[in-house]
Amino acid sequence: MRAVRVHAYHEDPTIDDIPEPTIQGPLDVIIKVGGAGVCRTDLHIINGDWAEAMAPELPYVIGHENAGWVHEIGEGVTNVA
Ligand SMILES: [Zn+2]
Repeated sequence: MRAVRVHAYHEDPTIDDIPEPTIQGPLDVIIKVGGAGVCRTDLHIINGDWAEAMAPELPYVIGHENAGWVHEIGEGVTNVA
């Protein structure tokens, strides 16, 4: 799958091919993203503004303003299908 990743602060993120996600726990939900937005939080991460507070491991996949379809659910998920 493709993902936008930050490799270094203050540099443009890149679109990379990364492994497909897998269910890791009973409450996980994997979404097939249909659309993704960028918000100020992503820009803070790119700029390294929160590097000390969040300490994200680089490369870091940005983007959390997403919409899509449920692709796979963990065994404990009961509210989406
Ligand atoms: Zn946001």
